Amino acid sequence: MTDAEKTIREYTGAKIRIMEVCGTHTHEIFRHGIRKLLPENIELITGPGCPVCVTPVDFIDEALWLAERGITVTTFGDLVRVPGSEKNLAAARSTGAKVKIVYSPLDAVAYAAENPCEQVVFLSVGFETTVPAACLAVEHAKKAGLKNFSLLTANKTMPEAYGVLAGSAEAFLYPGHVSVITGTSLYETLKQRGISGVVAGFAAEEIIRAISVIVENFKKGEPFFENCYPNVVKAEGNPAAVRVIERTMTACDSEWRGLGIIPKSGLKLNETYEAFDARLKFEMPEIKGRANPACRCGEVLRGDCRPYDCPLFGKLCNTENPVGACMVSSEGACSAYFKYGIGK
Ligand code: SF4
Repeated sequence: MTDAEKTIREYTGAKIRIMEVCGTHTHEIFRHGIRKLLPENIELITGPGCPVCVTPVDFIDEALWLAERGITVTTFGDLVRVPGSEKNLAAARSTGAKVKIVYSPLDAVAYAAENPCEQVVFLSVGFETTVPAACLAVEHAKKAGLKNFSLLTANKTMPEAYGVLAGSAEAFLYPGHVSVITGTSLYETLKQRGISGVVAGFAAEEIIRAISVIVENFKKGEPFFENCYPNVVKAEGNPAAVRVIERTMTACDSEWRGLGIIPKSGLKLNETYEAFDARLKFEMPEIKGRANPACRCGEVLRGDCRPYDCPLFGKLCNTENPVGACMVSSEGACSAYFKYGIGK
């Protein structure tokens, strides 16, 4: 047994709830069987770190609104299966809408350049890790003089969400990928606000060590932050990625599935690039979606319930027929519990 495992197994103090913010952490924790190491008083709960899961029904309905008007919607694969109020993008495609899977925002720009008779919209969702690629795509489209490319944005940034989630857990397992871009100063600021956590890598031993660091620090009774992924995550983050976001986007209020509207937690195109904002370009009306009332994704994303507490889990809702976003995405909590047989 390693020292880190010993620290975890021998912990007998007050209950520690640790929220793994990143969906990749959730899957790796299951894959490596790390939950089996934990005593009863250490609980891992899943958080809102999957971009597909936190994208609300409104956004899917907006994408459907575009697709049903003959506009070509380009997107990463997962989003086409996320239910809107009435249907998903895959269903719209089966009845003739142009919904095209791409592997990068630049692929969508290339498609727009090759098809000047089509209006092409890229669905830009994701956190600080993926938004720089969408920003570069818009810069590229502007330089190329493309008039038929735009973004429908639902990009989100994590710092404000931590404040909203602070009461859900004693400490966060901060997402390694996002931290590579943002750097670590925001976590020092959160520590000043009494919010604790550690940045963790994705290998089993890195996650176990990060949990042990949380346990050791929690015992001291003070807010804490430690970077347990120092070879990859630097204090200054990735300045080039931050700069491209700053050149093209500006902060905005954003709606998160399960968390509601969080002020200044989103990114939209700034004035220089507003010609590439699909909502403005196509004079989209305000669209309000209706989530399936039986689906408990919102509570799962807040850490208020486990996927198997949802009455649809594993029955009406499974990875072949997902009823909610958390079962669609490969990073989603429900898909992780389903895939690894938890709760059965
Ligand atoms: S099991 Fe399905 S319906 Fe229930 S919360 Fe998860 S995704 Fe939503």
